[in-house]
Amino acid sequence: MTPFQKLEESYAEVADLAHSISLLSWDQQTQMPPRGAEARGNQIATLEGILHERLTAPALGDLLDQANSAPDQTDRQRAWLREFEFSRARKMTLPGSLVKELALETSRAFGVWSQARKKSDFALFAPNLGRIVELKKQEAECYGYEKTPWNALVPDYERGLTADSITTLFAPLRDATTRLLDRILGSKQIDTSFLNQKWDTGIQREFGLRVARDLGYDMASGRQDIAAHPFCTTIGHGDVRITTRYSESRLLDALLGTIHEAGHAMYEQGLPESDARSPLFDAPGLGVHESQSRFWEIRIAHSRPFWSHYLPTLKQYFPGQLDGVDDEAFYRAANKVEPTLIRVEADEVCYNLHVIIRFELEVRIFNGELSVADLPAAWNDLYKRYLGIDVPNDAQGCLQDVHWAYGSFGYFPTYTVGNIYCAMLTEKMQADIPTMWDDCAAGRFDAILGWLRQNIHRHGKRFGAVELIEQATGHKVSCDALIRHLEGKYSEIY
Ligand code: ZN
Repeated sequence: MTPFQKLEESYAEVADLAHSISLLSWDQQTQMPPRGAEARGNQIATLEGILHERLTAPALGDLLDQANSAPDQTDRQRAWLREFEFSRARKMTLPGSLVKELALETSRAFGVWSQARKKSDFALFAPNLGRIVELKKQEAECYGYEKTPWNALVPDYERGLTADSITTLFAPLRDATTRLLDRILGSKQIDTSFLNQKWDTGIQREFGLRVARDLGYDMASGRQDIAAHPFCTTIGHGDVRITTRYSESRLLDALLGTIHEAGHAMYEQGLPESDARSPLFDAPGLGVHESQSRFWEIRIAHSRPFWSHYLPTLKQYFPGQLDGVDDEAFYRAANKVEPTLIRVEADEVCYNLHVIIRFELEVRIFNGELSVADLPAAWNDLYKRYLGIDVPNDAQGCLQDVHWAYGSFGYFPTYTVGNIYCAMLTEKMQADIPTMWDDCAAGRFDAILGWLRQNIHRHGKRFGAVELIEQATGHKVSCDALIRHLEGKYSEIY
């Protein structure tokens, strides 16, 4: 066996361990009885320990050196080694004591954050957040960075981007969006009153699954369960699961949430089987992953052709509840724009502003320009400036997201990066498939999914994110396509 083959064999076991942890954690969030929490915590920690040992074993370092210097590497082998080396180096750089301290502090912080959010009392959470920021700065020192420690953290989610490059990428979008929002708020508002009814959650589930199947989510290698926080998880090739939460009063949330997660899942289902149990069996970054979920959720399931096809079906699922509502009224209601306080409930126009606010605050905190104690005031100030709204309390303000309690700094921008990639891909798809919207209006999605399979899914982690998007679209990454889409769509609706 060559050194590369030996590495492949060892990594296959690492991948099995990682997927076993995913299964335990899926179970934890969907099936496990409440008293199982402590045992499950131990089981996951044990497996994490074994995984860490396997991945960082010195013998793998020797094999890696030999494989790297072997002549005649294929493109796939080079990509494989690059990805393996990156994830191994990230793990090996941090001293065990820091990893333990971070794990301890974030699990403590999660509990305090939940309490603080309930009481809407940021001061309660501030000391924990302060300690997490200090630990993350230490982590950044271990990796090394240029300009700001924040730059050392973002590669966990998106490689090749820095605070400066993201600022440049987002600036035109921020300006165009605030201008567009001003125009929208000065126009006649959309009637959504027919959505204020009780919608049977069992029927919501049936309809959501029907749509997910139509779009191409393969239920023979997938399933859907209920969880408090919706997610998609891959247990292995041929087993990609999604979760949804239902509310009787909010018809569209669960449906669009199901479609969003199905978008992530169809991506994972499209990764090549030949890469299963390898470091290439994933997206090159969270931005590309999000571009897939947002494509189906926003570009497909918020479109006129989609609702011209599915409104009659929805009416059959909820007899009598949507009498007198036509496609156009439903389409406009689904696309109502209204600045609100909560990111996860935001419409397509406001969403990126929520993300940009978090990004700007994170960078200021890690640059030492903003103290944790001053975070609520800075948060509220940006909500006023970008979204024009007053934040009444911290629960609906800077305590709303769990990310910072987990120590996930550098994560938020990937949501907007995903929207930017999504707009670029959609423009190219429209050019490549002239019948795209007719297909959608006929409930046919095979050509659309086929395009994503061909241009994105089948490549796994073979290329970097920016390289993959530029290759698929033929354009340099910029927010131009997203601005064109938002301005075009919403100046027609409003
Ligand atoms: Zn997502």
